[in-house]
Amino acid sequence: MTYLSQIKRKNGVLAIFSWIVLLLSSCSREVEHHSGEIFAMNTLISLSIWGEDTGDMIRDCETYLYSLEDKFSVTREDSELSLLNAQDDWMTLSPELEEVLAYSLRLSEATYGYFDPTLYPVVQAWGFTTSRNQVPSPEELDSLLPLVGADLVEYRQETQEARLPTGVQMDLGAIAKGYAADTLAELLREHDISSAMLSLGGNIYALGEKIDGSSWNIGIKNPYGGGSVGSVLVKDKAVVTSGGYQRYFIHEEETYWHIIDPFSGYPAKSGLASVSIVSDSAMYGDVLSTAFFVMGLEQASTYWREHQDFEAVFICEEGDVFITEGLKDSFSLISSYTSGSLQVIPS
Ligand code: AMP
Ligand code: MG
Repeated sequence: MTYLSQIKRKNGVLAIFSWIVLLLSSCSREVEHHSGEIFAMNTLISLSIWGEDTGDMIRDCETYLYSLEDKFSVTREDSELSLLNAQDDWMTLSPELEEVLAYSLRLSEATYGYFDPTLYPVVQAWGFTTSRNQVPSPEELDSLLPLVGADLVEYRQETQEARLPTGVQMDLGAIAKGYAADTLAELLREHDISSAMLSLGGNIYALGEKIDGSSWNIGIKNPYGGGSVGSVLVKDKAVVTSGGYQRYFIHEEETYWHIIDPFSGYPAKSGLASVSIVSDSAMYGDVLSTAFFVMGLEQASTYWREHQDFEAVFICEEGDVFITEGLKDSFSLISSYTSGSLQVIPS
């Protein structure tokens, strides 16, 4: 073998070797897909993540969600929120509970009290948290309404303390899953995951874009049957829905759902069957979808015009679908939906 052919051979072996290393290293950087389903925060949560070296991310997310349940569960007697509800002394809050409590007080005011984090006594009277549903008497509701109102919550930002007067109890069920979605997304971003689909009972968080670079197509459920009325294309957004169809019971042919008008104590009847909010923050969307379901289309449209920091899809009880102007190009109704027409709310 000549010297030259030896070099050529050596170079050939080297080339093949470096090609294998390159292949192996590119393999190790291949995008992995992991998914998981857990029951936490009183809802079925499904997580789907794509990324390099995603390792134990799903397990980390599950552990994190259980830790939030320890704080926000209103039904578990040992949760932090239940401890706050059970006493009328000042209590120092965890940073998580403090953040959600403070935000809920601020947004309750911003939504003119239609979102109210102190509805627990009324929600309990209807049996929504225990699944022992009943229709409370008007007298019972009248006696509970004085215990409802965000202004009854005493909160000291400087010392991270809160105090609930006797009988006042908070229910963060209309905001906590949004907070969970936002902070889960943050956790994933910290681990360099830039593509994930998080679904927490009505709260969807579409992190980044799909791995092929396209938008996520999020279905908006038909409140009156299976399937969806349409879908919205999004990238890096939360899509949060509140609807009477999500939890309800029927008593003497009347349907009673879990979203309550804080001013009457009765399930909200504003003419809306569902509200979906498309926003950067799922916690904001969670608050707004609940508040808008109570306040109705007209007042919600005014709120949107005044704020312009989210978009919305409203499905009316008669079937018409209203979208805010910003969704004009990203929302489409499915062709088989014939229960109503699509209308755009102008700014
Ligand atoms: P969501 O599914 O986000 O609309 O939240 C509904 C849940 O929040 C209910 O199951 C109640 O626990 C609670 N809730 C009901 N009505 C209201 C309201 N007007 N404001 C805040 N929380 C509410
Ligand atoms: Mg909500």
